[in-house]
Amino acid sequence: MGIVLFDNKQNCCGCGACQTICPHQAITMEPDEQGFVYPKINPRDCVECGACIRVCPLRSPELGTVKHTYAAAICDKDQIQKAASGGIFSAAAICILEDGGAVFGAELTFSQGHADVHHIMIEDKQELWKLQGSKYVQSAVGDTYRQAKCCLEQGRKVLYSGTPCQIAGLKKYLRKEYSNLYCIDLICHGVPSQAFFDGYIQQLKKRYRGEVVSYRFRDKTKGWGSNILLEINDGKKTRKVYKKAMAQSYGAFFLRSKIYRDSCYCCPFAGPRRPGDLTIGDYWGIAQEHPELKNNPDYAEQNGVSCLLVNTEKGAELMQRMGNSIHITPSEIVKVAKHNAQLKSPSVKPEERQVILQLYQNHGYAGVEQYFRKRYFAQTAAYTIYDKMPRKLGHWLKTVLKG
Ligand SMILES: Cc1cc2nc3c(=O)[nH]c(=O)nc-3n(C[C@H](O)[C@H](O)[C@H](O)COP(=O)(O)OP(=O)(O)OC[C@H]3O[C@@H](n4cnc5c(N)ncnc54)[C@H](O)[C@@H]3O)c2cc1C
Ligand code: SF4
Ligand code: SF4
Ligand code: SF4
Repeated sequence: MGIVLFDNKQNCCGCGACQTICPHQAITMEPDEQGFVYPKINPRDCVECGACIRVCPLRSPELGTVKHTYAAAICDKDQIQKAASGGIFSAAAICILEDGGAVFGAELTFSQGHADVHHIMIEDKQELWKLQGSKYVQSAVGDTYRQAKCCLEQGRKVLYSGTPCQIAGLKKYLRKEYSNLYCIDLICHGVPSQAFFDGYIQQLKKRYRGEVVSYRFRDKTKGWGSNILLEINDGKKTRKVYKKAMAQSYGAFFLRSKIYRDSCYCCPFAGPRRPGDLTIGDYWGIAQEHPELKNNPDYAEQNGVSCLLVNTEKGAELMQRMGNSIHITPSEIVKVAKHNAQLKSPSVKPEERQVILQLYQNHGYAGVEQYFRKRYFAQTAAYTIYDKMPRKLGHWLKTVLKG
């Protein structure tokens, strides 16, 4: 009958641990019709040893309990600008790199006009920018679990950052505790496929008549939120284009949970029990939960504030090591979870997901874009107008509309 890795797509998060552990290289990660990658076993190479089944983090996830919760922000104002939230990942990465260690995380590159999000290892602070900032696409871990193991065996410190399922996959692959391994998981509401994101990039190329040479999902030029900055090169010069994520098809569908892989809607990591030593995310609602920080420049909202959950002794040790490079204020998980649903339960699968992904499958991204423009015309226009308003007027209007 052969090895069956999962019976239903919702039981595979695409972490790649099975591929990495297979001693016979019998597994390849292949995209389905909607671009989501799944492991495929080549029966000719498989000896049915079962290692791939035992390593799967979705079969028996190992999770820790949050011990302490903080509102946090890195002190360095340049670093915080490059980060999606309060820059806590950067502070942790700098410590590990200064100790001669290796840091793993996700980078976005453009190769021959196509977007590619994948995990890499860095060993130098000069390369930190590659990992900073969220990329709201599934990142391919490639060979990084193996690389991390190699560094750990050499006795070097390793910081591995990623979605909770990637961290759980790494831990199951390693099979033993390493005192020199530090893991950071992100609060994660789901990932779209790389192919879908690249389809969107190809649309942008047509619209702006040029190559997309860089794309920031969370640019802070206009404050902390969901603001996109893309750079387009038309062959002569590179220009910057700022957009509200909600006024773009990809951003709006992502933020409304409409385009994630199946496993994200029943994610076992969407809760207060976590696979990493530390968990980081956006501290949405900081003004409401910590009014005492309102006029404190260390936690200026326009720069972004992180929530930092400490789940293990090693996590506490890494936080200590960050020392004066970060500002921290004790908080509570219930306060963070009030504004971050992923600390309570997985994203809810909307019916429209099927419509959007079927359009993509049948007509490519052009079909998705056409649908978005027609169906969300009024909302897109409202976001575009709001974006062009002076900031204070926009905030006032938002408050009035919210009642
Ligand atoms: C797919 C996704 C969904 C998220 N959903 C939420 C959410 O619902 N609520 C919330 O509070 N926060 C969410 N986050 C986390 C948030 O966007 C910030 O990444 C987090 O707060 C860390 O910010 P920072 O300022 O410390 O560092 P940053 O500099 O922004 O940190 C970037 C870190 O994120 C990692 N990373 C970036 N993109 C990916 C990726 N595609 N896959 C794996 N790792 C990646 C990098 O390796 C690096 O470690 C999500 C992030 C991702 C990637
Ligand atoms: S059963 Fe063993 S040989 Fe077969 S795919 Fe899984 S790990 Fe590879
Ligand atoms: S190990 Fe990861 S990629 Fe492999 S079947 Fe399990 S969830 Fe899917
Ligand atoms: S929502 Fe869960 S399954 Fe989906 S990418 Fe995030 S951690 Fe993985």
